[in-house]
Amino acid sequence: MFTRRSFIKSSALITAGSLINPVSMFAQNDKIARLGGSKRMQLTFRPFDAQLIHPFTVSGYTRTTTPIVLTEIAYDGITGYGEAAMPPYLGESQASVIAFLQKVNLQQFKNPFELDDILAYVDQIAINNTAAKASVDIALHDLVGKLIGQPWHAIWGYTAAKAPVTTFTIGIDTEDVIRQKTKEAAPYKILKVKLGESEIADKMIITTVRSVTDKPIRVDANQGWKDKHYALKMIEWLSDRNVEFVEQPLPKYDLDDMAWLTEQSPLPTIADESCQRLEDIPRLKGVFDGINIKLMKCTGMREANKMISMGETFGMKLMIGCMTETSCAISAAAQLAPKMDYADLDGNLLIANDCFSGMKIIDGKITLNDRSGIGVKPLNI
Ligand code: MG
Repeated sequence: MFTRRSFIKSSALITAGSLINPVSMFAQNDKIARLGGSKRMQLTFRPFDAQLIHPFTVSGYTRTTTPIVLTEIAYDGITGYGEAAMPPYLGESQASVIAFLQKVNLQQFKNPFELDDILAYVDQIAINNTAAKASVDIALHDLVGKLIGQPWHAIWGYTAAKAPVTTFTIGIDTEDVIRQKTKEAAPYKILKVKLGESEIADKMIITTVRSVTDKPIRVDANQGWKDKHYALKMIEWLSDRNVEFVEQPLPKYDLDDMAWLTEQSPLPTIADESCQRLEDIPRLKGVFDGINIKLMKCTGMREANKMISMGETFGMKLMIGCMTETSCAISAAAQLAPKMDYADLDGNLLIANDCFSGMKIIDGKITLNDRSGIGVKPLNI
């Protein structure tokens, strides 16, 4: 029987439209490089399970692994790396991502520099599938950056030193675990704390964090507060406890209530679940103070960069966030970090089996390297 486990264990090399025996993607691409490389883009992909260091709970569910699909695009002896990360609530899975990627035919394009046409083609293959689309976008950006010989933050003209500090996330947990995790977060200058449970539980979490540290907190309620008056009462309570802003306090479609809450709120509000793609931003103006941009929601680096421009135009605060991802997708997101007011790029720090090295956090700050493309190297694990 073709179980999910055996499927993952095989880590089979898969190309669009075919299944090839378990050959390492890296060996395959070495072979292409030795032959001088093909002048057609070749997309390959394989499933990968990210093991979480601690079980992670946010409002609604707990998990110990995150399903990922790793992608590569080879062209002219150069390989670009990408990734799709699929937290369960977004509705994608390794199977759905692989089914999508098998439909992608990059060989019809002669030139990887035609990002606009290639990614417009990928976007119209099917609706949704945003993580699958991001995995192509990231690998293509990595490839093109390597062909140009520059990192993407430099290609876009962004100043690496302007990248902000990142938060480190404390999930919903028992009092003892929250105290322990807050102590472990000592290297990070700002904490992101997940709320959205009962009033007693939410206040216990904040009080417990505050028993360990006075450092600034950013709260994410993950749509967990169902009533605008209750949400305002919670935000007022939080505003006396060195909290900087509140992310997604109300359910994602409650935009009228959200506009009222933002008007009344003593703290800025940031849209996460309410803001998936570029087209969502106009209706969020005046509803939230800012937007949380994530590559897995918005189909990748190209659209994320457009979201920056639109958010700036509307005078909104900008935040870059992530799912639980390897250093591949985190480093891709970090290329945009110099433009951000806030960053929450800690997803790679939550997993035990990261298969890339890339962007580093130094003194709590996102620190970009000078490697071309998205700035990553695969690790042999
Ligand atoms: Mg969030």
